[in-house]
Amino acid sequence: MHTARDASFAAALRLKVRGDVKELESLARCSTYRIGGPATVLTPAHAEDVAGAVRHAAAAAVPWFALGLGSNLLFPDAGLDALVIRLGRGLDQITGRGDEWILGAGAPAPLVAKRTAAAGWGGLHKMVGVPGSVGGGVVMNAGCHGAEWRDVVQSVHTVDALGNDREVAAADVGFSYRRSNLGHVVVVGTTVVLRQEESARLEEETESLYKWRKEGTPFNQPCCGSVFKNPELARDRDPALPRTSGQFIEATGLKGLRIGGAEVSLMHANYFLNVADATAGDVLELMRSVRSRVHDQWGVTLEPEVKLIGADGETIRLST
Ligand SMILES: Cc1cc2nc3c(=O)[nH]c(=O)nc-3n(C[C@H](O)[C@H](O)[C@H](O)COP(=O)(O)OP(=O)(O)OC[C@H]3O[C@@H](n4cnc5c(N)ncnc54)[C@H](O)[C@@H]3O)c2cc1C
Repeated sequence: MHTARDASFAAALRLKVRGDVKELESLARCSTYRIGGPATVLTPAHAEDVAGAVRHAAAAAVPWFALGLGSNLLFPDAGLDALVIRLGRGLDQITGRGDEWILGAGAPAPLVAKRTAAAGWGGLHKMVGVPGSVGGGVVMNAGCHGAEWRDVVQSVHTVDALGNDREVAAADVGFSYRRSNLGHVVVVGTTVVLRQEESARLEEETESLYKWRKEGTPFNQPCCGSVFKNPELARDRDPALPRTSGQFIEATGLKGLRIGGAEVSLMHANYFLNVADATAGDVLELMRSVRSRVHDQWGVTLEPEVKLIGADGETIRLST
């Protein structure tokens, strides 16, 4: 199989699509973890260029990987053989038409939160502290403070693995807790329906949620947010016992545990930080160690929320 690292692949891609094509781009620069080796990265200028890139990759039998702001993934130290299609400028529109807003996949969710709040439309304003893109928010069904993307999405605009445009209605997206079921597609945008509210109140809420984030989480340090999903537990569980992943990790006495350059945050136990040039291997080992110690003490198996990425861009499981 060819890889996106073949010199001829990038050269031919440049001739076919508009947008920036970088070879040997450090994926550490494309992820909030600041971890990951080199890859060929395309930042497409328009949706048609996404389709062109997917078709070019398919014809060359090269795998591809859709990337947003890299705030929920762990790239391999050796980099990727896949073509990375990074949604950003050019696909970042934020346009309101009454209660309907059309959002480009590359727009940052915190910016969408602020713009919609300022215009007096509620529903996405709570995403102010989720540092991902619109596309990543939809794919991950990201959420916080009781709000999730699935609450507002009306339809999702995608480019499928053959390079065809497809509009997927919300009911067919397959949203569930921190995931969707769109398959191997690139999300290029979404249409959401928001509710009209007083802008001053929305902006006040947005500001106080952002303050809470900054004070309660290691927000500005290299990390990927929550490492593990919250486990599903019996509703009538004793409230004195841990319930969230962070509570389990803290109650197991693992705050501050360090492997290589990766450390369990002292501020929030479900955040693992890159404190000193951590490798993906360090983070994976820390995840395994935390998971097995929590399991030994509580009998609960924590499942990753962060996407662990393999050499071809596939999602891999956390091995034991
Ligand atoms: C400090 C911090 C706090 C966070 N807090 C929260 C929180 O409160 N709630 C929460 O839910 N998450 C949180 N996260 C995680 C993360 O921000 C969200 O999951 C976010 O929605 C991911 O978006 P992204 O653009 O960074 O996606 P990426 O990390 O780039 O990608 C994540 C996955 O989505 C896929 N993907 C991304 N864009 C596209 C696209 N356009 N088309 C197809 N597939 C795509 C990727 O292939 C990958 O599988 C936090 C992260 C950090 C660093």
